[in-house]
Parts: sequence; structure tokens; C-alpha cells
Amino acid sequence: MTISAATQVLAVIGDPVAHSLSPAMHNGWIADHGLDAVYVALPLTGEDPGAALGALKRFGFRGANVTVPHKEAAARAADRSESAVANVLRWEEDGSVSAFNTDGLGFLDSLSERAPDWRGRTSRVLMLGAGGAARAIATTISPYVDTIHFANRTPERGESAALSLPNGRTLRWDDLERGFGAADLIVQATTLGMDGQPETEWPVANCRANAIVADIVYRPLHTPLLIAARARGLTTIDGLGMLIHQGARSFELWFDVKPDAAKARARLLTALGEAQ
Ligand code: NAP
Repeated sequence: MTISAATQVLAVIGDPVAHSLSPAMHNGWIADHGLDAVYVALPLTGEDPGAALGALKRFGFRGANVTVPHKEAAARAADRSESAVANVLRWEEDGSVSAFNTDGLGFLDSLSERAPDWRGRTSRVLMLGAGGAARAIATTISPYVDTIHFANRTPERGESAALSLPNGRTLRWDDLERGFGAADLIVQATTLGMDGQPETEWPVANCRANAIVADIVYRPLHTPLLIAARARGLTTIDGLGMLIHQGARSFELWFDVKPDAAKARARLLTALGEAQ
């Protein structure tokens, strides 16, 4: 691909972003569709992300993904936002910037891909964690299920997440054995099990035989939770699915074409050093 003055620029903005898989994913799709565009990683450090994001609006990018810790600042900096927490920015023809959140729908897409019958199987959800990703997923899934129980290390954050949904409930962090036994769908949305972070022993032995177990951590791809759930023969969903589908929905918002999720998965497995 030749980069010229006409090449459109897209980016992932966050801190850190040096190991982000988004450039590999989006540049692969840009090549698939023969687009004159390039996707780079922009670290945004420092105290006042709002000022930097506000200034960035004037540069005429095509689009951007925003990741931790700047998703709320991005929603505030945009001229309009569908959510208070944004992971996608789109520059419009009039120079204004729109913000979107594709995290929840990205998770839902990955769930439907791996467990197409999930809606018939799921009335009770156990959400492990109450951070940004947990809340985005829970908000999207809430209309389709009876209850979502948040179990969070810091109970106040779990309570606040539960209160934001009509069917939100809380479960004590030391009551996970009961929670695992009652859930049809378990979503692991804490940083536990992530490379460089602590691990824990989840009570997978308590899971129902037809439970679905999802872990949104993708480094490592095969987390201790997923390994234990697979050993029990449960349906499992890894974190790459959510990453790819939130990205695919971002790409569609920018270019109005649906990119190939399977091709992205093959590329990202290679990037992660996973044999296919
Ligand atoms: P966040 O807003 O910082 O939330 C972190 C969550 O992890 C909180 O619930 C926090 O609990 C919990 N936690 C942290 N350390 C813990 C520990 N030692 N024991 C128990 N709980 C602990 O982060 P986030 O953006 O939601 O991301 C959470 C995870 O999801 C990260 O691993 C991230 O990489 C992954 N993620 C994946 C995707 C994807 O596309 N697959 C997308 C977004 C995020 P407290 O409230 O008690 O601190």
C-alpha cells in the first residue's frame, strides 16, 4: 500500500497502546477492502486527556478507537455521543465528531457466534467485575435476560452497576460458589487471569452442565477460567471474539462495510503466537 497525502488516518488512542492488536486487525481489513487508509496506535498520556482529545478533533482523522483510561473523556470531548463511555470516534463530513460504544454489542456478537442458542439457554447472568467493560456488556445484555448479578471485589462499584439496570442484582464476592451454581451465563470481566495480573481459583465445579462461560481477557487467550470450564465440557467464549466484533462494528461505522471477522481471528491468533 502506498501512503500519500490523501491517505485517511485512523488510530487507537489509550495508555498503554503499544501492544494493542487493533492496528493488525484494522490494517488487515483496510487491505481486504482496498481502502486508502492506515490505522496506527497513539499513546495519550498525562493529566488532561480532554484537552488532547478536543485538539485532535481538528485534525480530520477518519475515525478512532479509544481504550482505557480515556473512554469517558472521549465521550465528553465528542460533539455528540450515544453513551457516557465511548470506544469509537467518527469524524463527520462537517468536521464534527460523533462517539459510539460498540463494546457491549461486540460481546453479544461473539456470544451469538459461539452459542447461537444462548437466548433460549440464558435467564440468569453472573457478571464478574463491575468496571467499564462489565457495565457495557451488562447494559447490552440486560433486555434479553431475567437477572444480572454483579460480583465485584469492591462492593460499592457492584452495587452502583446493579442499580443502573432494572434487572441488576448484587452477589457478595465471597459467595461466588453459589453464584456459579445458579448462573446460565458467566462473564469474567475483571483483570484477574490477565498477563501480569493475579489469578484466582474460580468455583467452576459448581457450574450447571449447560452453563456458558465467557472470559473477556484475551492475553492469555486460554485463561485459567476457560481451561477449567472446557475441562468440564462447558460452552466457552474467549476474549478475542469481543475484541474482533467491537472492532468490526467500529469499522462498519467508519467505512460502511462489514469486515470479515474470521480473517481477523486468523490474523490475531498469529499475532498472539497461537497455533491455528
Ligand atoms: P476496569 O474498568 O479497570 O475494571 C476492572 C475490574 O477488575 C473491576 O471490576 C475491578 O474490581 C476488577 N479487579 C481488578 N483487580 C482485581 C483483583 N485483584 N481481584 C478482583 N477483582 C479485580 O477495566 P475494564 O476496562 O472493565 O477491563 C476489564 C478486563 O476486560 C481487562 O482485563 C481488559 O483487558 C478486558 N477487556 C477486554 C475487552 C475485549 O474486547 N475482549 C474489552 C475491554 C476490556 P474493583 O472495582 O474492586 O477494582
